[in-house]
Amino acid sequence: MKNASIALFLCLALNVLGLQLSQQQQPLLQVQDESRPYDGHKVLRVKAHGKARHQIANTLANVAGVVSVLAVGSNHVDIHVDSFFASFLPSHVVVDNVQHVVDAEMERLEAAQHSFSKMSDDEKYAPENWFSDYHRYDDIVAWYKQLAEKHPDLVTFIPSIGKSALNKDIIAIKVSSNVNKDTKSQFWYHTGDHAREWVGPSTVQYFVHSVLQDHATNPALLDNAELIIVPLMNVDGYEYSWAGNRLWRKNRRVVKRDFFGSVGVDLNRNWPAHWGEGGSSNQPFSDVYMGPAAGSEPEVKALINFFMNDNHTRLIGAIDLHAFSQLVLRPYGWTEDPAPDEKLLKKAGDDIRDTIKKVSGKKYVSEREIDLYAASGTASDWFYDDDVQEWLPDRRLYAYTIELRPSADEANGAQGFILPPAQIIPTGQEIYEALKGYMAFALKNPLLVKK
Ligand SMILES: [Zn+2]
Repeated sequence: MKNASIALFLCLALNVLGLQLSQQQQPLLQVQDESRPYDGHKVLRVKAHGKARHQIANTLANVAGVVSVLAVGSNHVDIHVDSFFASFLPSHVVVDNVQHVVDAEMERLEAAQHSFSKMSDDEKYAPENWFSDYHRYDDIVAWYKQLAEKHPDLVTFIPSIGKSALNKDIIAIKVSSNVNKDTKSQFWYHTGDHAREWVGPSTVQYFVHSVLQDHATNPALLDNAELIIVPLMNVDGYEYSWAGNRLWRKNRRVVKRDFFGSVGVDLNRNWPAHWGEGGSSNQPFSDVYMGPAAGSEPEVKALINFFMNDNHTRLIGAIDLHAFSQLVLRPYGWTEDPAPDEKLLKKAGDDIRDTIKKVSGKKYVSEREIDLYAASGTASDWFYDDDVQEWLPDRRLYAYTIELRPSADEANGAQGFILPPAQIIPTGQEIYEALKGYMAFALKNPLLVKK
């Protein structure tokens, strides 16, 4: 409790400081060299327990100078702060210069990209090469395209479900066999809402690869279910995270020209599901900026349109994959009230956690999102909430946000997003096995709404 009180006090002090900064000293905070935007930035660890962690995370999201609330660990909150802000708080530093972490990774990527670009397409797409590193948007699109060419009976490539803010195509794929074609249940997956969370897209790639590979010997999954997948939602943000600003989170739309020159909306706080009701910010500089209106962002609009397609009325589950912290989060994020299907949602979420433990030994935590922190306008609440329920009145959807590796206790703040590529396959394997089990369970236990 003592730590929690100190943390709360610190948090309030930071808030006051932040408000003063935002009123008087704004230009100082935004003088950034875009090519090395995190020079002098630090990751600070605020010790806190229980609910105090969430209060701190929520308050700090609205403080100018706090670039990002990175992770909520079991006994701490890690925050990424700019150099001006950091000079006030020299203690509890876990990363001394965020830019050095980013520089080392960019140097590694530069070399890896160089050798990758020299390969023929066949070499590039060989699993041992493809899954040995992360990939750019164009390469990911090409990879899915060749997958559809290689498996025309199983994979449909959809070149565009809508455009990003900067006019790039958001692609989708469907994976299904010809058995029970028009009657089988459907599962939705999407990832890459947050630009810097690269293991999300790579995990979905590995998942699709494994589903296809196993189909010949075990056709049950694709004979009983169709997978509808948006493999990279935040195309602009993702590309920006490659082009220098590795820790970018939001999309790249300029909503309005504010004093900070702020760019971007948090695509997982913009969905029309109790939008703006906590755990997001109305300040454009914030990393959890909810946007000017519910569903205002082109990427969110594109996914909603595609989701509520006449051909998608057999959906029974939807999952949004993020990183990091190793969590399986179920509704709700905006209210303490239990979801009507809490019992089954918990069972399926706990099963995902247990399967992962069996496969790799990694400990994921299965919990309600609100028990971690408040968040509103999230995709997983939208999947479960009123809009989708009105559209599909006979059922609700199994809905989760999965936060992939590493755990918040293992990773040093900013380094959590820079997961070594050697972890791409192990993360993919544990999630593939877990999702197979989840789909089998959901097929047997759909969340039917009793009239
Ligand atoms: Zn995320």
